[in-house]
Amino acid sequence: MLRLIHVILFRPKYSENIGSVARACLNMGCSQIILVDPWDWNLDKALPLATHHARHLLDNIQFFSTLAEAVSSYNFIYGTTARTGGWRKAIQTPEQAATSIIEHRNDGGQVAIVFGPENVGLTNDEIELCTQLLTIPTTKNLSSLNLSQAVMVVLYECFKKSMTKPLEIPGHGQARHINNNERELLFTQLRQTLLDIDYLKPDNPDYFMLTVRRFLNRVNPRFNEYNQLMGLCRQMQRIVRLAKDKAKT
Ligand code: SAH
Repeated sequence: MLRLIHVILFRPKYSENIGSVARACLNMGCSQIILVDPWDWNLDKALPLATHHARHLLDNIQFFSTLAEAVSSYNFIYGTTARTGGWRKAIQTPEQAATSIIEHRNDGGQVAIVFGPENVGLTNDEIELCTQLLTIPTTKNLSSLNLSQAVMVVLYECFKKSMTKPLEIPGHGQARHINNNERELLFTQLRQTLLDIDYLKPDNPDYFMLTVRRFLNRVNPRFNEYNQLMGLCRQMQRIVRLAKDKAKT
């Protein structure tokens, strides 16, 4: 989904973070990680954090010794920073940046998002190589996120913007709405049940049913909820019948 968007880690210190970045990239559909002059790259330390699912991302990492070389083929280069003072102006939020990143991607542009080392972040030298700058807003307590969490936040915003239709939660498809036939059946069933349990007064049951109708129309039950309510009514009627039979004997 974010295939044309690549993540560049500039001088990352901890291989574990690189593993977590790989996992985040796989979660969000980003297929390429680039390492620039990593401090102590160790696949064995990265793997447990990446999980075996994201191993191919670690195996396919591209290496460069300078950031200038790493970014040379990209059309748009987004730098990320926790520090926003001084001349670091016109900084976008991840949400704003994601809008333009996805527009560039849709126009066939190659986009790189650059993340700095855990201890010092990106310095002005690296930021000069970036065409845009983004920051993740935080509380005043601490502006700096863990490297892989920063990657996740930015990619998630891009992921959301890349969706052509609203995000759906897998496995949570909604049941269909009920049709008018079913709605009327439910009202009839409810009316009869409420009469059976002596909740509705037999002299004017439809008056009270107006409120029930309005309530159910507002709730607009789905098919599974309709089935539940019908089942509930049937069960109440069964209990009433049993009680009446017992009273006769
Ligand atoms: N101490 C460094 C933080 C480095 S954290 C500093 O003050 O800049 C490692 C990297 O994670 C950063 O270089 C940046 O790429 C990313 N990152 C961390 N927090 C961020 C934030 N609030 N906004 C954007 N990127 C952030």
